[in-house]
Amino acid sequence: MKEQDWDIKARSEACSKCEHEYEDQEPFYSKLTFEEDGYHRSDFCEKCWTDEVQASALSRWRTIYRSPAPPPEPAVKKETAESLLRELIETDRMEQANTIYILAVMLERKRILVERDVQEREDGTLIRVYEHKKTNEVFMIPDPRLKLAELETVQAEVIAMLDGTARAAQQELSAPVGGEPAPEAAPENSPPEAPPAS
Ligand SMILES: [Zn+2]
Repeated sequence: MKEQDWDIKARSEACSKCEHEYEDQEPFYSKLTFEEDGYHRSDFCEKCWTDEVQASALSRWRTIYRSPAPPPEPAVKKETAESLLRELIETDRMEQANTIYILAVMLERKRILVERDVQEREDGTLIRVYEHKKTNEVFMIPDPRLKLAELETVQAEVIAMLDGTARAAQQELSAPVGGEPAPEAAPENSPPEAPPAS
């Protein structure tokens, strides 16, 4: 697998053709094309989404512009499936191909990402094209075609990874987290409490 297989492509703030700036909740259209240096994404307003523009599209979809896009990094650094996915893509962690794919699938189940298309390259690699529903970014994720048993193993690893970093962050902040048991609750293995001395 080549490094550039993973990619995040940001939306444009304006139509590629007439430069009309999108307003909040305005529908627009996106297309992917394949050029010498790889996949390109371009966005168009409704008026400019002509047959001619669509003719060169490998993938195309209609979406809704949401403004303003939330910042990709939360104020407090907390590892989530989304932040981990972004980190792995940005650092080109080739050995993490399975993890990257599983994170994308998890985010699709959470309805953070929506699958827009699947590209099959000449070498048989499947590239899944996901759109981030809030930021309209496109995530290009190669599908490692895991078998069901592999899928479950990788998923368990990913969940453990997220759980571990969440716990580390929690200890660092030493702040109570909603839904966690109260800190004064005795751990299961602790001896019964001594009667209060009088
Ligand atoms: Zn336009």
